[in-house]
Amino acid sequence: TERVVIVGAGHASAQVCASLRRDGWSGEILLIGDEPSLPYQRPPLSKAFLAGESTLADLLIRKPEFYEKEHIVFRRGRVTGIDRDAATVGLDDGETLGYDKLVLCTGARPRPLPVPGAELAGVHDLRDVADAQSIRSGLATAGRAVVIGGGYIGLEAAASLRKLGLAVTVLELADRVLQRVTTPRISAFYDRVHREEGIDLRLGTGVVALEGDGRVTGVRLADDEVIATDLVVVGVGVVPNVELAQAAGLTVDDGIAVDAHGRTEDPAVFAAGDCTSYVDARSGCRLRLECVANAVEQAKTVSATICGHDRSISALPWFWSDQFDLKLQIAGLSTGYDETVLRGDPDTGRSFACFYFAEGRLIAADCVNRAQDFMFSKRAIAEGLSPDRGLLADSDTQLASLLQ
Ligand code: FAD
Repeated sequence: TERVVIVGAGHASAQVCASLRRDGWSGEILLIGDEPSLPYQRPPLSKAFLAGESTLADLLIRKPEFYEKEHIVFRRGRVTGIDRDAATVGLDDGETLGYDKLVLCTGARPRPLPVPGAELAGVHDLRDVADAQSIRSGLATAGRAVVIGGGYIGLEAAASLRKLGLAVTVLELADRVLQRVTTPRISAFYDRVHREEGIDLRLGTGVVALEGDGRVTGVRLADDEVIATDLVVVGVGVVPNVELAQAAGLTVDDGIAVDAHGRTEDPAVFAAGDCTSYVDARSGCRLRLECVANAVEQAKTVSATICGHDRSISALPWFWSDQFDLKLQIAGLSTGYDETVLRGDPDTGRSFACFYFAEGRLIAADCVNRAQDFMFSKRAIAEGLSPDRGLLADSDTQLASLLQ
């Protein structure tokens, strides 16, 4: 029988497994992952899991029985090479395994912090469950934490640690938080909330060294101030795991380049999730997205393509972030917006939506504690609507009425 080999056991590969069976793949499915666990959800690692409100068992995307029932074999190991001529992958334990179809779901890894002392005990990345567990195990004796990086993961980690009672400092090199991923208005909102919650937030602040004797005790800033701390969480972005694909001669353009059907230029090799880049049909731009919705959409597309069905990457990207009592839900991508409309007041309240338009058309929305506005936005954007700005801004408008 034919065999699909999937490299990496994360969000994308869990979906490839499930979709392949649903799409009618009756051959073998071999899932190879270098983490000890079956695929689990990463988002809670900086949220409920870090705050001690859930366990690894709660995080599993599918229970072990699912893989048994669907005859999906999980093999722990690290793939170290791909031989496309022989259609095999090599593992770190020396074994070589053949494939008929190969799916690369290798994800991304934390960008290292390029300063002395980054290897000290008590300095943590936050990408996998082992990272989150080691942060948690240091909490019993920690009263102070420094988070380096004011992106989503840094801010979520800061909120979770603050909730646990630590004194938390967030250091961000840019002049606003979330600079890479959102607009100045949303950054200003999160800046206010984090300060209101007692976070010591420092913008435009570079780190030159982490200090300590074996274990971190301080963070030295560019102006030579040293912030004393018991633990450090580094969240300065990720780099896609593209090296396997690159070494195998596949095209890498920021991520592993795939077409709208999840294919690389090798008809037997596919890729999905954080490790890929593709040309978005809506914007015409090449994108590398780091979110669960994208991993799932690409995985469904790869599965369909392998099984001979016609499907392309098309679902609207969406994202969420939980910090304190705030549930942010983002529909679409705001890149290229030329007009915004607010519903609610981000300068004083904690519930609002910000809609983004480009050339009169709604392209994205950031919704904080506004689940209904988010649902509306997803549909309106997907359907290409241009809702009336005045009605959108008016809190008395039932947004559903604008969908007709
Ligand atoms: P991953 O889930 O990273 O899985 C890749 C797997 O492949 C890893 O287990 C890796 O170890 C393994 N691997 C890599 N190379 C090899 C190899 N050569 N051999 C074997 N195995 C290999 N997204 C959201 O949408 N919302 C959120 O709120 C959100 N919060 C997040 C919070 C945190 C703390 C983190 C870390 C991520 C968050 N994300 C969030 C992002 C989301 O988790 C990722 O987009 C998603 O996990 C991508 O799935 P993936 O399958 O592409 O990669």
